[in-house]
Amino acid sequence: MKKNKQVKFKGDKEGYCNICGRYSQLTCDHIPPQGCVKPTIVELRTLTQYLSKPSERPTDSQSGLNILSICGNCNNTFLGTEYDPELIEVSKQIASIVRVQQLGLSLPEKIDLSVKPQRLIRSVIGHILAGKLPISGKPPISAPFSDALRNYFLDQSSNLSNNLEVYYWVYPSNKQIVINSLGIGSAMGEGFISGSCLLKFFPLAFWIVWDKPASFPISLTKISKDKFKGLDETCKMVLDLRNIPPLSYPEVPGEGRFIMCCDDSTFLAQPKKPKGFG
Ligand SMILES: [Zn+2]
Repeated sequence: MKKNKQVKFKGDKEGYCNICGRYSQLTCDHIPPQGCVKPTIVELRTLTQYLSKPSERPTDSQSGLNILSICGNCNNTFLGTEYDPELIEVSKQIASIVRVQQLGLSLPEKIDLSVKPQRLIRSVIGHILAGKLPISGKPPISAPFSDALRNYFLDQSSNLSNNLEVYYWVYPSNKQIVINSLGIGSAMGEGFISGSCLLKFFPLAFWIVWDKPASFPISLTKISKDKFKGLDETCKMVLDLRNIPPLSYPEVPGEGRFIMCCDDSTFLAQPKKPKGFG
């Protein structure tokens, strides 16, 4: 089998944190957090490898997708203590519902659960920001979209920027995807999404979109942010169990669409099949 270019997911032990920008020892972030998906041997591909060279040999990682990319404070204090427990809890609840559905038992078309959006969204954002190697010797590049994500993550008294929408849906696949920056355009006059980022793992997908043009259709539910909520305030998350987008949505563009991304900052991980099983 021909070999793909190695996916680079190991970098400097010290550097600038992808989230707070401080120079320090870098710590490994598991994407998604270990409480959501048990880290096993996975095959890593970039989005381009996945789309154009799926039969070529991928890069193996022994313990899921984990990247040395953020400082201990962002990793342990913010993510580990403050934000991840909510994402883990919500994922577990939804995973058990999706598994029941996969057994063929009938469930209502939609279910809703109560979540703490300020913790949940920050957890998702933190792992997306951690989902690329820091640039060696340089702090994170400042840009309106990534600055809005980082500032929101770090300032617990802030609300999600008005320019950002958080879409989510049920994702019944064991392939994990993190894409730090994804632009999507339309050749049909629907406009262009210049900034978005994506995190998908069983059982949920999250797509955070910056400045969506009104003309660009996204028919998914999004997390409400009509009024500011404190860290422990809750809102309803409605999950549609029947109308699920294709598993490769939105990173594989449909007809009349095109995507733009930096391939080195896209990671697709899937459990490695045991030898002898194809
Ligand atoms: Zn940090």
